[in-house]
Formats: sequence, structure tokens, C-alpha cells
Amino acid sequence: MKKTAVIIFGLLAIGSSVYFSKDQISGVVSIFESQYFPCQQPITYSLGTFDSGFGVSKAEFLKDINQAVQIWQTPVQKELFKYSPDNGDLKINLIYDYRQQATDKLKHLGIIVGNSKASYDAIKSQYDTMLANYNSQKSALETKIADFQQQQDTYNAEVQSWNQKGGAPENIYNQLNQEKSSLSQEAQSITQEQNDLNSKASDINAVVVALNQLVEALNLNVSQYNAVGSQQSGEFEEGDYQSGPDGKKIDIYQFDSQNKLIRVLAHELGHALGMQHVSDPQAIMYKLNYGTGEKLTSADLAELKYVCKIK
Ligand SMILES: [Zn+2]
Repeated sequence: MKKTAVIIFGLLAIGSSVYFSKDQISGVVSIFESQYFPCQQPITYSLGTFDSGFGVSKAEFLKDINQAVQIWQTPVQKELFKYSPDNGDLKINLIYDYRQQATDKLKHLGIIVGNSKASYDAIKSQYDTMLANYNSQKSALETKIADFQQQQDTYNAEVQSWNQKGGAPENIYNQLNQEKSSLSQEAQSITQEQNDLNSKASDINAVVVALNQLVEALNLNVSQYNAVGSQQSGEFEEGDYQSGPDGKKIDIYQFDSQNKLIRVLAHELGHALGMQHVSDPQAIMYKLNYGTGEKLTSADLAELKYVCKIK
């Protein structure tokens, strides 16, 4: 939900724009308009990257975007955004990466992430339990593997010694064959346990991602809390808005419900209109996706009216 804004210089050179191609002129003009006549022209948008990993279809995603658009438009009865499938100025990207992977995994594990210190503590205690289980299973497996290797070495030495003697008598031969099959069964069970352990490790990593997100979101004292170690360090964002020389874009990385998706879309669209964060925790423009409402709060509306110069 961080806003990255790149200030665009060079507006004074607008007089020389006759040398630009038509596209470039309209680009400069739309930047000029958005800075000096905000909200006069709707911001056109289209889809950019669309990862199917979220299990949301393009049509559903467009519907959710439209719902987020209506959240801003309805209260002021003004067209602020316009879908332009082929060439929108604002690209909206749905990007599936470790953030959503972690969300999906946590859901699967029945872990609900709330934005509070209590939620952090609850998840941290689940993490501690998971890690303790993991470590004890890992050390048991290590013992098992060491035993197995010893048995295997003994077996190999025995086979080699009989082979040097020109072969084993039938009873020994049968006995060695039995040992061989029990060793291969043991190897299979070790592989299974290793896979199980790997999947536990990946669950733990998902919890670590969530914990790091909460450390960041709640401004927890990192030196006190980052003892969990991290696979993925630092920021965990649901989405962000960027405006720069390459154009304007919204990236959506993570959501755990349609409600949260619509809210994060509305939040980033708010940034695209030029809005800053507000201090009401229920607001769309609050720095975190705390609330569940799909309507502007009075703080949102005041900020909208301020940036759009609506009285
Ligand atoms: Zn934000």
C-alpha cells in the first residue's frame, strides 16, 4: 500500500511539444491536466499482467475493478476512471508471487491473519509450535538416516566379502536378499518422511512471511521480533501504485477475500487520483487494509474532494 510517486519534470518545455508525435503530445497534456486540472478527465485503465494463479478470471477481476471505481465515483457523481481495454494510461496488474502463495497456504492451514499485536502473538506461538515439531521430526529423521546408512554399509561389506569368496551359500544368499528388500523399504519410508518435512518447512515459510508482514504493518520492534528469521525479508504489500517515466501502474500482489481485493484496488485507484493516506483506520485510504467497508468514509470523501477540488 506504499505509494511511489516520481515527480515528472519538464512541463515548462510544453511549448516545444510540436516536435513530439501525437501520442507523446497527448501524454504530456494528460500529465499536465492531471496536475493542474485534477479529475477533469477520467483516468483510462486497462489490464496489464494477469496471473491466473489467484483463481480469478479476467472478467471477474474487471468486475472487481469496476466496483472499486464505483466506490469513488458514486458519492461525487463524476466519471473518474474509464475502462479502455487496448490502451489505458493506467495499467492494472495482478501478480502472483510468494505473497499470495503464503496467503493461500495460511488459509489452507486455517491461520487467519489479523492486523493486531494479538494476532501477531497468536501466529508467533503457532510458528513456535510448528518449528518445534519440525525440529524434533527433523532430528528423529536424521537419526533414522544415520542408522540406515550404517545398516547399508554393513550389508554392502557382507555382500562384498561373500562375492570375494566366490558367492554365498543358499541360506546366506536368501538372508542377504531379505535384508536388501527391507533396506529398500526403509529407504522409501525415509524419502516419504523427507517430503513430509519439506512440506512442513514450506508451511513454516508461509507463516514467516505473515509474521514479517505484521512486524512491518504494526511497526513492531524488529530486533525483538525478527528472531523468526526470514526467507522473504521486508515488505509485504497487498498492492502498490507507481507513476513514473514508463507510465502509471497498479500492481496487486495479495488478497484473501473479494472484499479485500476490492478495497486494495480502491486504495490504489485513490493514489492514482493523487490521494494520500488518511488517519481513519476504517478508511479506504488508510495505510493498511483494516476495514471491510466498500464505501468511502468521511475522511476518504474529504480527501477526494480536496484532490479533485470539488466543493
Ligand atoms: Zn497506500
